[in-house]
Amino acid sequence: MAVKNIPVREGQPNLKDYEKARENFSWEEMKQHFSWHKTGKVNMAYEAIDRHAEDPKKKNKTALLYSSPGREEKVTFHDLSRSSNQFANVLKNYNVNKGDRVFLFMPRSPEFYTSFFGILKIGAIAGPLFEAFMEQAVRDRLQDSEAKILITTPELLERVPQQDLPHLEKIVLVGDHEKKGEQYIDYKQEMETASEDFDLEWVDLEDGMLLHYTSGSTGKPKGVYHVHNAMIQHYATAEWVLDLKEDDVYWCTADPGWVTGTSYGIFAPWLHGVTNVVRGGRFTPEDWYGTLEKYEVTVWYTAPTALRKLMSAGEEAVKKHALSPLRHILSVGEPLNPEVISWGLDAFDLRIHDTWWMTETGAQLIVNFPSMEIRPGSMGKPIPGVEASIVDNEGNELPPNQMGNLAIKEGWPSMMRTIWNRPEKYESYFINGWYVSGDSAYKDEDGYFWFQGRLDDVINTSGERVGPFEVESKLIEHPAVSEAGVIGKPDPERGEIIKAFITLNDGYEDSDELREDIRKFVKTGLSAHAAPRELEVKDSIPKTRSGKIMRRLLKSWELGLPTGDTSTLEE
Ligand code: ATP
Ligand code: MG
Repeated sequence: MAVKNIPVREGQPNLKDYEKARENFSWEEMKQHFSWHKTGKVNMAYEAIDRHAEDPKKKNKTALLYSSPGREEKVTFHDLSRSSNQFANVLKNYNVNKGDRVFLFMPRSPEFYTSFFGILKIGAIAGPLFEAFMEQAVRDRLQDSEAKILITTPELLERVPQQDLPHLEKIVLVGDHEKKGEQYIDYKQEMETASEDFDLEWVDLEDGMLLHYTSGSTGKPKGVYHVHNAMIQHYATAEWVLDLKEDDVYWCTADPGWVTGTSYGIFAPWLHGVTNVVRGGRFTPEDWYGTLEKYEVTVWYTAPTALRKLMSAGEEAVKKHALSPLRHILSVGEPLNPEVISWGLDAFDLRIHDTWWMTETGAQLIVNFPSMEIRPGSMGKPIPGVEASIVDNEGNELPPNQMGNLAIKEGWPSMMRTIWNRPEKYESYFINGWYVSGDSAYKDEDGYFWFQGRLDDVINTSGERVGPFEVESKLIEHPAVSEAGVIGKPDPERGEIIKAFITLNDGYEDSDELREDIRKFVKTGLSAHAAPRELEVKDSIPKTRSGKIMRRLLKSWELGLPTGDTSTLEE
């Protein structure tokens, strides 16, 4: 491995010793941090917002630091507590009850967070949809969930096929509009008259809170159902892994349409009463560095696709900005390439901490603990209270260094409780007491986990199993390569051959020589059998809207097969 292990550094986040934190750990004890321990009932909206609003010291603290092109706002815990009470009253007026599904289809905005907590205060189930979804994607999700209310903007309303949604009773419109009709509710008008007092619905730990449709890297989106109980793990990982402290300014770049944007863009920081930055609008390197600088962000949770783009933007871009408050960086969503980690050391003088988890798991499970040595390319080790392993298809554990199914022992607080309308799908995740993730990985002798690929993506070439991630990571170490997506292409002789799609950095042009040079680079740097036999230069690599490389699509294109569900494809 080209990039060396990175020790814990003096003065860097240095939490509890990892081994000590695992000893004598119990989730039961973690529950003591919440008021349900006294009341027997709970509500995420209370723990994340109202509790701080009731605290004279926190009441006027900024909860949300919002900015998007043309709009900037600071919202305190007090403000958010009051406004979400108002919105809960609006929903109540329209007969929304505990357990009803209320969906949000709108850009990140203060109104989004107000509505979101209003929904939870009723005890209803929130379903956030990413703003860029087109009509088919919206239809699928609203039909499957039988959503009763949708909160959206007049602009996005065009993509809501109302005629196909018999369960949808009302649409709340946020923003100026001229829509007439009984089905429409005007957000502004209703909020003006709604009371700021609301008797929050106390619910059970196992009551529903959130319905998240997964990003669909591998197929049709699934409605992953989460309950209030998840807060235990959001709270715990915010402390251990995000290392959040009272005075931090935290920025999670994920949209709340994806699970990272709720678990870690809403719950984790606010359960700790930490100031949370939300940035709307599109990604540009200048804008992202600018946001880190302007708000003096201290803890930053982002994704490999963004980090790779920042890396491609070059050193000049980062050096222009004063980023000294930044003290802790984390990544999720895709494997974090070693090259990116080593760039991070140069660019920020910080380690980038990879974390692994899924929509289904509700919160982080395998992570690079701040107090652990980082082995670039590894996802790290399981958090306290979680047992992970590599199992075969029957659920038997495999010895170290053997590739297999990444699996987790059942029973962590933030686990999904079902797949909406598809209980059989939910059951299919479990084998022999293990939750089987659908990712392949191996564990080394020291207990570090190494991601190899989604099971569907693993390539079998001449009898060797090759994870696309390793090949992609090597490819982007080459100075000409910006991004890479690697697939297995059926081959009569070898079973599969490795085909790589790449995009080039500025200043490079496609040529036979360049491609040959890149192939050689992988051959000598990784291994002969992992070097792509075919290499194709593209203008872009298809990604999900959450920024993940869609290898399934590259493969369909390559083989001329139907492309399947592409509702989450980025344009
Ligand atoms: P779908 O299940 O609908 O195909 P998806 O799997 O992309 O969509 P998510 O739940 O958002 O939906 O993503 C979880 C997956 O993302 C993991 O199973 C894994 O494949 C990948 N992933 C997340 N974090 C990491 C990480 N740190 N390293 C490697 N892969 C990761
Ligand atoms: Mg998945």
